[in-house]
Amino acid sequence: MNYKIAVIPGDGIGPEIVKEAKKVLIEIGEKFGHSFDFTEVLLGGASIDVHGVPLTDEAITTARNNDAVLMGSIGGNTATSPWYKLPPEKRPEAGLLKLRKSLNLFANLRPAVLYNELKGACPLKDEIIGDGFDMMIMRELTGGLYFGERKTVEEDGVMTAYDSLTYNENEIRRIAKRGFDIAMKRGKKVTSVDKANVLDSSRLWRKVVDEVAKEYPEVSYEHMLVDNCAMQLVKDPKQFDVILTENMFGDILSDEASMVTGSIGMLASASLNDTKFGLYEPSHGSAPDIAGMDVANPIATILSAAMMLRYSFDLDKEADLIEAAVKEVLKAGYRTGDILSEGKTKVGTKEMGTLIVDMIKKG
Ligand code: NAD
Repeated sequence: MNYKIAVIPGDGIGPEIVKEAKKVLIEIGEKFGHSFDFTEVLLGGASIDVHGVPLTDEAITTARNNDAVLMGSIGGNTATSPWYKLPPEKRPEAGLLKLRKSLNLFANLRPAVLYNELKGACPLKDEIIGDGFDMMIMRELTGGLYFGERKTVEEDGVMTAYDSLTYNENEIRRIAKRGFDIAMKRGKKVTSVDKANVLDSSRLWRKVVDEVAKEYPEVSYEHMLVDNCAMQLVKDPKQFDVILTENMFGDILSDEASMVTGSIGMLASASLNDTKFGLYEPSHGSAPDIAGMDVANPIATILSAAMMLRYSFDLDKEADLIEAAVKEVLKAGYRTGDILSEGKTKVGTKEMGTLIVDMIKKG
């Protein structure tokens, strides 16, 4: 089968890490008889340099006309790059926000995985982490507090600010369905996180999640209050499979979960709309401090490509093989600088990509 992928190399380390992910996809294509057509799209600083804007209308159309988007990361050094002398709406990040909005990406997926081989990077105690953990935070991305009505008023010399947190049942239903769908492809467990003891929006969230859960009898699910979830993530992260939550809670919990893994260069992410289409990118930024030095860890981007195969193309076997190859390469002792520990073999970006490709060939 043929799949069309829009590729956004982006800025900083973006082009280097995307190149390695493409190498992996090409190998998967050869092994399983698929072909991947890659069309390059400019976004962020790279687009500003060529077109004067961080995202053109043509770039949006190209992204839309593909089956999925694979992205590196965008942005430069915010203190020194000339891109940040531009007004906010012309800066690199504005292009990414516009692209996400244009593509209707409402579901954000951030896996937080602690590999047995990288346990040393985890700030938690050994008895808590056991053999590692593997959870997926599913965050609603287009509603809630960040998109509600807001205002600041002054009355009798006192300033008061308002931000409203609004969700309608359709917005909740579509993200909940996505969460349960994802759980069906994983450990079949959903923890829906809210603050239903205080917020009306959370009580509606709970009611709709209860309704959606009935359509997925194979998935076990529970509700958890967000403050408890924040504690449980450091007390017993192994208990989680899919954490399903609204925008702000997801923003905070996904950062907490990623810090618990201790390895920013390993964390993939995806943003999905209500079709099979998705945008796949590492959780980290463009790391301008190490750009062009062949030291960046390409694994987060390679694992994002694996997510693309699993969630946009339903190629689960192929995704499994990439994830297994990453684990095997780590087991064999190879590390980029960011995850290096004593006694391990240091490799660069390209070599890490090649090692994973070779492992896929063997697998
Ligand atoms: P960052 O994630 O780029 O870097 C933080 C630290 O982690 C740096 O020391 C960096 O060298 C290191 N690091 C990040 N990824 C790595 C990798 N794959 N391998 C090895 N080390 C890695 O965050 P930042 O420095 O705050 O931001 C840099 C730029 O990235 C900014 O312009 C920011 O706006 C942008 N950014 C973009 C995205 C995105 O494209 N979605 C996300 C976050 C930040």
